[in-house]
Amino acid sequence: MDPHPTLPHKGGGKIKGGVACAERRESDLVTGVPSTDLEHAARLVRRARRGVAFTGAGVSAESGIRTFRGQDGLWKQYDPFKTASLQHFLRDPTIYWTVSRERWHTYQQAQPNPGHHALAALEAAGHLAGVVTQNTDGLHRQAGTQHLVELHGSGRTVRCLDCGGIEPRAEVQARLGREMPPICRVCGQRRLKPMVIFFGESLPPSAIAEAFELARACDLMLVVGSTLQVYPAAEVPRVAVELGAPLVVVNDEPTPIDVEAAVVLQGRSGEILPALQAMITAGG
Ligand SMILES: [Zn+2]
Repeated sequence: MDPHPTLPHKGGGKIKGGVACAERRESDLVTGVPSTDLEHAARLVRRARRGVAFTGAGVSAESGIRTFRGQDGLWKQYDPFKTASLQHFLRDPTIYWTVSRERWHTYQQAQPNPGHHALAALEAAGHLAGVVTQNTDGLHRQAGTQHLVELHGSGRTVRCLDCGGIEPRAEVQARLGREMPPICRVCGQRRLKPMVIFFGESLPPSAIAEAFELARACDLMLVVGSTLQVYPAAEVPRVAVELGAPLVVVNDEPTPIDVEAAVVLQGRSGEILPALQAMITAGG
């Protein structure tokens, strides 16, 4: 589990600047009516040499990790502010770790799905320069993605807020049955926090900078499984679009950026991405 955090807020300033990126062709100019053609998407991805995939909870949902927002979201079951806000956590980490104990089994069992693997293959084939993700589950890395930017941190590692000691999450989870909240093995304090961004925390500046750098230099932006509701992360694909990179959206529901896309593919990313990758591979 990993209540990842950052409060959604509408708006967010436009981010300007950056180097001119994508080679832009007349056929990609956005007309306001995106294509829904898989072959069109495959052509765009095939010619990309430094494309970027921006992924959200929808990709992990197909691996059995529940999303936070929406009808069946975790936040319907748990109060996000009590569970994963820095303010509450500092007062008492017990709530967070109690929820974590309940949910760990599912989280630990989750495996990358065909969508994760397809993105790793597109990177290996030289079409993607990397993956920028809002997810904290580490499944992209497990699937083989080399250049991964985790905007909301990683739930696989835990850090002591008192001494800075770092420990694998699995080891902390293993002792929750006898320690609640868990105790730091180094200093004995009880403020062990997963290295994810909680409500009330800023995104790591280095990850944000790296994400925008990739977006500014990209020649294709592929948004997968994100409804782009969380800022400033959602600004990352917009920067690429503003600089002229063609946009392909893969999601099971409409997103606010669809109108700016060259192609919108609605459905499950675990099915669409492998089909896209197969078409690209077949096309040479
Ligand atoms: Zn410590």
